[in-house]
Amino acid sequence: MKVISKIGALKDFVSVRFFNRRVPLAVRMEITNRCPNRCCYCNVWNIKAEDPPKEKIFSILEQLKRLGTKKISFSGGEPLLRSDVGEIIDYCKSLGISPEMNSRGFRIKDKIEEVKNLDLLKISIDGPQDIHDFLSKRKGSYRECLEAIKLAKDNGIRVSMATTITKYNIGHLRFLLELARENEIKIAFQPLKPMYRGVGAEKMKDLFPPRDEYKRQIKELMRLKKGRYSKYMRNSLIGLKHIYNWPNYPELKCSAGKLFCIIDTDGTFYPCDRITYDSKLPNCFESGVEKCLNSVPAVRCGGCGFCGSLELNFLYNLKLQTLKEVLWVIK
Ligand code: SF4
Ligand code: SF4
Repeated sequence: MKVISKIGALKDFVSVRFFNRRVPLAVRMEITNRCPNRCCYCNVWNIKAEDPPKEKIFSILEQLKRLGTKKISFSGGEPLLRSDVGEIIDYCKSLGISPEMNSRGFRIKDKIEEVKNLDLLKISIDGPQDIHDFLSKRKGSYRECLEAIKLAKDNGIRVSMATTITKYNIGHLRFLLELARENEIKIAFQPLKPMYRGVGAEKMKDLFPPRDEYKRQIKELMRLKKGRYSKYMRNSLIGLKHIYNWPNYPELKCSAGKLFCIIDTDGTFYPCDRITYDSKLPNCFESGVEKCLNSVPAVRCGGCGFCGSLELNFLYNLKLQTLKEVLWVIK
């Protein structure tokens, strides 16, 4: 992100924090529900919905640009399944918004030329090969993720990894950190939290790691963060201290719907998609993004440990220790 743009983001942050404005600096846009994987904590692949046409996506991107958005994570589903994913990325970039993508690298070999304009590719890896493939319910998924990391790096795309912590991979966090180090990239560790469109709280509970083992492993990550592994972790030290408390987090004001938001494949506007809502949420395709942004109520939530939103929330709570991690994401 250019210096002028960073200064703009800082001004917008101040106006949100102190003058009650809403500026969606970071947006996640779901551009397909289709996915070849069947991850144990996810239900998105099971929700039937048409992919939004690219014209509608372009219109949303233009609106977000006017509202001050600085970066968009294209997500899904597997965004690489869209035949026009490259056009969407290019259009986003041409507007001056930084395009990122959440993916498991499905058939990225065929798409690498098209996605070259990405500023960041975030690859989800949930463990060593057997555990990752088991959790994704698809053999070959791990190999694809590694291929995607290499190919993207060879083509000049910045890459990071993300891991959702479950009982299956709790003993392998060090392995994953080592994998990040070998590839000279960063990794974000995030604890489980039921999702609005997820597999349901009951099924999710079956995936929770034992509390003692979880605490032991996060403590170990804190130790490593203070040493030579620091630059390979996207989590800040106070972020790790915060997620140590999972599943009951210390109070932190959340900036969902103020600094960041999510737009679903059908246009639904979520301040955050990890919580439940009592009433129907507004739709960006019907009402436009600005109206949606200004009509959703403030979120009520017990907290979470999702790296990106957590680091932004620390800033929102004026804990400036995370500035470095936030700036890395929007660089
Ligand atoms: S978590 Fe991602 S990769 Fe896994 S099934 Fe859901 S959309 Fe697909
Ligand atoms: S703390 Fe905020 S970002 Fe995290 S789950 Fe709750 S509403 Fe979402």
